[in-house]
Amino acid sequence: MDNASQAAERLLCWYGRNVRALPWRLDVSPYHVWLSEIMLQQTRVETVIGYYERFLKALPDIESLANAPEDLCLKLWQGLGYYSRVRNLQKAAQVIVQRYGGHMPDSAKELIKLPGIGDYTSAAIASIAFGQAEPAIDGNLLRVFARLTAYGEDIGDQRAKQSARAFFLPLMQPENLTEAAARALESVSQSLGAPVNLPGTINQALMDLGAGVCLPNGEPLCSDCPLKEFCLSHQRGEERRYPVKTPPKARTIENRTVLLIRYGDRIALRKRPARGLLAGLYELPNTKGLLSRQEALEYARMLGFAPLRIQELPPARHIFTHREWRMIGYELRADELTPLSPPKEEAYLLLAGKDEIKTSYSIPSAFSVYLIL
Ligand code: SF4
Repeated sequence: MDNASQAAERLLCWYGRNVRALPWRLDVSPYHVWLSEIMLQQTRVETVIGYYERFLKALPDIESLANAPEDLCLKLWQGLGYYSRVRNLQKAAQVIVQRYGGHMPDSAKELIKLPGIGDYTSAAIASIAFGQAEPAIDGNLLRVFARLTAYGEDIGDQRAKQSARAFFLPLMQPENLTEAAARALESVSQSLGAPVNLPGTINQALMDLGAGVCLPNGEPLCSDCPLKEFCLSHQRGEERRYPVKTPPKARTIENRTVLLIRYGDRIALRKRPARGLLAGLYELPNTKGLLSRQEALEYARMLGFAPLRIQELPPARHIFTHREWRMIGYELRADELTPLSPPKEEAYLLLAGKDEIKTSYSIPSAFSVYLIL
């Protein structure tokens, strides 16, 4: 950006007035920054706060995460979705303990070698926790970049990320820090009651600007924007033309039938295979297709239950990134039971009481409509 020092100054002054004291901003240890960044992917800030605090209470440091039972990690993640995030978090914690003596590496180049850490997260950790000049290019920064520069190409391309990175990098250089910007940085630190650094603060200010002012859907709030005088698309009155994006691929639609099988005061659950969608989580027994009552009864028998009563449950829908489940459900009460598959098998059935389900089994939200406890 030509006017990097002026833009950085406007941005930091705006951030100084608007900074939110989120829990992960109050103590920027690398573990805290990392955990919050992983949780914030695909999830709203307001939702993340409770999860973040609960997770840290149970697993306060990298070592405890590395050594925790996988089921505990999954349980702490239940409701956040995209469970591969927490699996990778734990794998990376194990690598950090084994290879780095429990200390996170401080450069984006090393961080990106860890499981589950990509371009964006490595730059976010390196900048916020370690003060490295690394623009963290996520959807927010890409959108702000595309509008500021009237970038006419697809922002999904790698080239767009590189251009955005080059564009924002000068804002993080200490030589571009004016006195007013330095004072604004100090006021951010005072508002948070915690030390801050220039690159991490610029990244967070841009993220907040993208999330709250340069809005993704609908009209951006240009009159509130500290960068409006540097914004090409705003000058042309063409903010809505940017960013340019190719439309996403249509989702695959899958019909499924879900069974809520009650046996005494317990409910049948199944552990999913260790690989693939929702790997290793627990689910209500379900199968592809929309089964009739008769077919559902047969399916329950095939699983080992002798159903006594069956009742239809309302249809439901669940949307994954590339897939949509359209579900129907049946509630069944069973009495007799043939031996269930043994737990050593990849996917096995078990019976669990209500309290156990609440405390010990991670069940994806796709099943929440049918999990009537
Ligand atoms: S002026 Fe408007 S379009 Fe440009 S960066 Fe600011 S909010 Fe976005």
